[in-house]
Amino acid sequence: MSKVTFIGLGNMGSPMAKNLLNALKKEGGSLEVYDLNPTAIDELTALGATRANSLHQAVDGASIVVTMLPAGQHVQSVYLAKDGVLAHVAKGTLLIDSSTIDPQTARQVAEQATQQDLLFVDAPVSGGVAGAAAGTLTFIVGGSEQGFTQAKNVLQHMGKNIFHAGEAGAGQVAKICNNMMLGILMSGTCEALNLGIDNGLDPKVLSDIMLQSSGRNWALELYNPCPGVMKNVPASNGYQGGFMSQLMEKDLGLAMQAAVASQTSTPMGGVARNLFCLHNRQGNGEKDFSSLFESYLKRLES
Ligand code: NAD
Repeated sequence: MSKVTFIGLGNMGSPMAKNLLNALKKEGGSLEVYDLNPTAIDELTALGATRANSLHQAVDGASIVVTMLPAGQHVQSVYLAKDGVLAHVAKGTLLIDSSTIDPQTARQVAEQATQQDLLFVDAPVSGGVAGAAAGTLTFIVGGSEQGFTQAKNVLQHMGKNIFHAGEAGAGQVAKICNNMMLGILMSGTCEALNLGIDNGLDPKVLSDIMLQSSGRNWALELYNPCPGVMKNVPASNGYQGGFMSQLMEKDLGLAMQAAVASQTSTPMGGVARNLFCLHNRQGNGEKDFSSLFESYLKRLES
């Protein structure tokens, strides 16, 4: 059975690697794991994964490598550094990067991989930590048809919906367009609910009205940011869990970078980025992104 390697065992990577490990075990295969943080590796080895003590060891002899890293600079260094992934894998290896990064870096890694007869796809995800744990992530893949077809066989063990967005970098572009839309919808929903509250409306009643009217949207329907309106959402759990506000700021920053590169006008995305940036500077970066709702609340004078 060929060697499969997973690199980057953080909030997302760890549950993804667990699902992949379980699927590989059923097929008689195994998973080798690596992270800079040894404790993250321990968690996976306790479940039956093989420990790699270095990046070199992790990818040596691998036929499939999956990475889930924080940002573009980490992806660049893990893949392209002198002692990185591309320096050690054999021709024909399938490389899947599921991190959310700038499309330029994804294209740069893909180009160098192609020059070495390697298959690289960018495959960022939507669905958050809960989706990673449940194995229900949406993967948005950029790369060749061949890369997509091969990657799908691996990604199906960690997700439910797998889209081919286009050539290299297209997965990242689609992901940041989606998250820019989400940031705009969430900030608009927070704003509308607060306008209603300040003018005497019950937020639950207003939400029910808008859900049957033209203001209906994903944030309102599935992720109401006003505490108490909806059960089982971060707003009703002190804004814990969910998608951290600092990650929304990161994704909106990537959208702005892409907009500058393509000279696209994105005024709403720009406002949303600034709102989340301000919110995070006020100490809310680790709360769920729907906590932006609180920044609109009228403060009682003491
Ligand atoms: P995280 O910071 O929890 O995990 C990243 C892991 O990568 C860490 O364990 C870190 O030690 C490891 N790492 C960093 N550099 C490394 C290196 N050189 N070699 C080996 N390991 C290295 O991040 P996360 O929340 O798991 O997010 C990962 C990616 O997924 C990010 O790009 C993020 O934007 C994206 N994402 C996150 C969420 C979410 O809800 N957390 C949702 C969708 C997408």
